[in-house]
Amino acid sequence: MPDFAAARERMVDAQLRARGISDPGVLAAMSRVSREQFVSESFRGEAYEDHPLPIADGQTISQPYIVAVMLESLHLTKSDKVLEIGTGSGYATALLAELAAEVFSIERHPALADSARHTLAALGYANVQVLTGDGSLGLASAAPFNAILVSAAAPEIPSPLLTQLAENGRMIIPVGREDAQQLQLVHVVDGQAVVSPREPVRFVPLIVGTKN
Ligand code: SAH
Repeated sequence: MPDFAAARERMVDAQLRARGISDPGVLAAMSRVSREQFVSESFRGEAYEDHPLPIADGQTISQPYIVAVMLESLHLTKSDKVLEIGTGSGYATALLAELAAEVFSIERHPALADSARHTLAALGYANVQVLTGDGSLGLASAAPFNAILVSAAAPEIPSPLLTQLAENGRMIIPVGREDAQQLQLVHVVDGQAVVSPREPVRFVPLIVGTKN
């Protein structure tokens, strides 16, 4: 049985702290959440390696460093209500649940949503709701959100997500085509969405509508 706790601490030091992640809340959350619980048994031994890993349905669990960059950019507090688009394995959902008050997460693949729901419940996260559906529409019934984290790339920022951000709300989203994507950070100031470009990234596409 590999020593997952030791591997997790090495990941936090070598992949996060050494590359400039400094938010104590993000570092503590990433030291707490067991990434190995969110991947299939055959990939557990690689859970703390410096790259994305395959999950079901041809999707991926993001590289730990990119998850940390995205979380740090949101400056979450324990009173924030958060929307996540693209639950996938539920790993980032667990981290959001550690850092915020309440998390709504939308996943379009029913099997992934079921599996994430099961994992998160087994780990005791009670402030999370995983919903199946098209996250590009956001979740009007629970809006406005203090923060939105999108884990799949869209050609442009879906407008419902912009309208569902609260004043002082933050959204981090990969924008672009398959081979040329960039994280964009949106901050709502005096009712206006201010967009700042961040790191180049590579995410699976955000599928809009019902096509497969
Ligand atoms: N954060 C996840 C990464 C998941 S990969 C993790 O830590 O595991 C991106 C996910 O977005 C995939 O599971 C994919 O099915 C989902 N997705 C793609 N388009 C979507 C949409 N329109 N609405 C909701 N989920 C979507």
